[in-house]
Amino acid sequence: MTKDYFLTLTPEEKHILKYKGTETPFTGEYNEHFEPGIFICRACNNPLYESNTKFNSGCGWPSFDDEIEGAITHYEDLSGGRVRTEICCKKCDGHLGHVFSGEKITEKDTRHCVNSLSIRFKPYAQLQKATFGAGCFWSVEKLFKATEGVYLTNVGYMGGDTDLPTYNEVCSGTTNHAEVVDIYFNTEKVSYTTLLNLFWANHNPTTLNRQGFDSGTQYRSIVFYHNKQQQNEVKQSIKEQQKNWENEIVTQIIPSQIFYRAEEYHQNYLNKNNLGSCGI
Ligand SMILES: [Zn+2]
Repeated sequence: MTKDYFLTLTPEEKHILKYKGTETPFTGEYNEHFEPGIFICRACNNPLYESNTKFNSGCGWPSFDDEIEGAITHYEDLSGGRVRTEICCKKCDGHLGHVFSGEKITEKDTRHCVNSLSIRFKPYAQLQKATFGAGCFWSVEKLFKATEGVYLTNVGYMGGDTDLPTYNEVCSGTTNHAEVVDIYFNTEKVSYTTLLNLFWANHNPTTLNRQGFDSGTQYRSIVFYHNKQQQNEVKQSIKEQQKNWENEIVTQIIPSQIFYRAEEYHQNYLNKNNLGSCGI
């Protein structure tokens, strides 16, 4: 007899996984969740999605643009009077949601629309965080995303005076937030020093509130450190870097604050739009 993976589920979980129900949009615990880790099947623990494929589609359910290879079965679903593709866990056949394409929200142009109740999050504890602001966050993200050992990048706003700022508010220069890239990196593969060196080498830290043509406090050079060790390393490296510049480095070094993830269209912007750098 095959194992009944649905036996220990709550009635709410069973409604989704076994009876192919759908949770109410914008209510699931993972809808606005962008931490590094893996999402496993809530019924059988089968690993389904890496968190670096998760994005905010605005649909109200967790969205992923790729699956872990071989983890998911795709079925044609004709219910509801239209043709859709249902996705189920390959191991226990539990219902996850549906998959859509043609919306062009991410590079892969795929949206796995998944119920939070079908999945469970397991964090990657060994990853460390780093946060940098060095002008337009599009190109800063592209730089770090391409760096070996960097697992996850998100662009957003930090260091301002208001809660939940929008891009327009930040661009108005009135909120004092900096455009930043929030990075999760594997310390066994890349060091904080290496990330710092990339940060210094790819912007001008001596121009106050300006990078090239981009001017305003949102473009300021800034390092948000996440622990004492990072703070010490930044202070040391700024001394080293000063030798390379005639003018004084004006980079701000302060403790990390609340990270507000930017609107989805800003995430991975240059790669998504096949652009080399900002302003082209
Ligand atoms: Zn499963």
